[in-house]
Amino acid sequence: MQLYENQHIKIYNSLSGEKENFSPINQGYIGMYVCGPTVYSNVHLGNVRTFMSFDMIFRYLKHLGFKVRYVRNITDAGHLENDADLGEDKITKKARVEEIEPMEVVQRYTVDFHNVLQTLNFLPPSIEPTATGHIIEQIELIETIINNGFAYVVNGSVYFDVHKYNESNEYGILSKRKLEDLIHNTRTLDGQSDKKNPQDFALWKKAEPTHIMRWPSPWSDGFPGWHLECTAMSTKYLGEFFDIHGGGMDLKFPHHECEIAQNQAAKGQAPVKYWMHANMLELNGARMSKSSGNYINPAELFSGDNDKMSKGFSPGVIRFFMMQASYRSILDLTNDGLLAAEKGFNRLMEALGNLDNLKTNNSSSFNVSEWQQKCYDAMNDDFNTPILIAHLFEAAKFINQVNDGTASVSAQDLARLKTVLHTFTFDILGLEDSQSSNVGTEKLNATVEILIKLRKEARINKDFALSDQIRDELAEAGIELKDGREGTTFSIK
Ligand code: AMP
Ligand code: ZN
Repeated sequence: MQLYENQHIKIYNSLSGEKENFSPINQGYIGMYVCGPTVYSNVHLGNVRTFMSFDMIFRYLKHLGFKVRYVRNITDAGHLENDADLGEDKITKKARVEEIEPMEVVQRYTVDFHNVLQTLNFLPPSIEPTATGHIIEQIELIETIINNGFAYVVNGSVYFDVHKYNESNEYGILSKRKLEDLIHNTRTLDGQSDKKNPQDFALWKKAEPTHIMRWPSPWSDGFPGWHLECTAMSTKYLGEFFDIHGGGMDLKFPHHECEIAQNQAAKGQAPVKYWMHANMLELNGARMSKSSGNYINPAELFSGDNDKMSKGFSPGVIRFFMMQASYRSILDLTNDGLLAAEKGFNRLMEALGNLDNLKTNNSSSFNVSEWQQKCYDAMNDDFNTPILIAHLFEAAKFINQVNDGTASVSAQDLARLKTVLHTFTFDILGLEDSQSSNVGTEKLNATVEILIKLRKEARINKDFALSDQIRDELAEAGIELKDGREGTTFSIK
């Protein structure tokens, strides 16, 4: 008997706009595909949030006993600037600017992506396919779409015929857009003259002579369209119809809309049962994105080496901060929010640390099984992590009361409480038992603050040699002091 047989999960399906009862296509098995990063630069925390939401979902589904095949791709070709059919390939552009091979760009930022995710305690997906590793599958898929009459070839490029498709299908079914409105709102852009209609999108693009990343195909030496990659890779590993497809909210249109159209055109059926979209991370009230410059990289947040936060935050605190919001809500990353999350995280870890010191009694003043089911109910309700965390704090409060002698717990209940608390905190939310490292960081921070105070006193006493010595020796040890209007802050390299 698996746990999932007693738990009834509801998932908000972006396709229907409703929370639906979750039942996988094949009982006991789940296929989940999440659009991975385009590896042309360091991931920022916005990207991380989306992947973390699906990491938590993967963890919970696995915990319930499902056999989950989780596919998260790496986009290493075909994603053009502005997410449209024009402009340079994001990876090629970076390679040109840095004067290195495109595959060096891919390697560098794939490694960065993996390092960041590992630091934040992500589980690896079951398969991490690359777009360039699946060119043959993509060419075959295009051939099928052409043969089915939904794509056309012009000057070596292949375009999806959205208007033809819409005659017998609904383009806009996911994003709730109407083709008529799109036609109305789309200006014909220069350079798109190859297309029958501006709404059509590229399945294959003929490479300009200067375009380095190119592959032979029946139509030209060229490269695949970004939307096509995900259809080819998800179909290959999860089949023509699979359970969950996820990604950030910004991918709903056109990317996911086009994935639906491609599958429908090639296979005559919708690809996905449950479409899930994670909401955006903001930074001080505005959407985090590379292009706007309003972003922060994980390494800068860990070290405190940035001009947006007053100090560094541990990976556990960052993870806790993100899990305090539902994956479907917008979340604003602020210094105050992180400081509050740090307090909460430490409080929870402290209670967990006290679990081993509790004295047991004959009876309990806390109903552990009722509480346990409330934890499951929160997660079953479309993975409601903020409610789950509220329940974890309820247990933390009880632990502290037992510790103070104002509440009692039986040995049996204590054992269960410990197991369930550990499961939800570490296995499902993915928080790390970083209490010891956290204590280490706190002590280091306190020590640096003492040195900052001594340096300030030295300056007041006009002992500049000493104040400079403190600053320089700290810098040598990798701790940089920054003097600002609000006082001195520091970052650890
Ligand atoms: P990209 O590498 O640009 O293809 O993006 C990788 C993933 O990060 C996609 O699923 C995006 O939807 C997601 N993403 C980008 N910006 C944000 C943000 N500010 N908040 C949450 N997710 C984001
Ligand atoms: Zn995708």
